[in-house]
Amino acid sequence: MAIKIIKPGKFKNPKDTRRFLCLNCGCVFDADRGDYEAVTIRNQLDDEIAHQAICPACHKWVRRSEPLDE
Ligand SMILES: [Zn+2]
Repeated sequence: MAIKIIKPGKFKNPKDTRRFLCLNCGCVFDADRGDYEAVTIRNQLDDEIAHQAICPACHKWVRRSEPLDE
């Protein structure tokens, strides 16, 4: 029987948080898992995973991000 989360706790895994940099307006923001989504970008050689979130300032899609480990 697998573990099933009925209601998530308050503890968050820091690795799930990513820091985004909006290239449109320069806004820097942190987004938790669930606030961003992973998309697959098809390159010529292979597929690449990109994470995207909506900028809270200008509401454009932001794809420039890095994992926030601490
Ligand atoms: Zn922005």
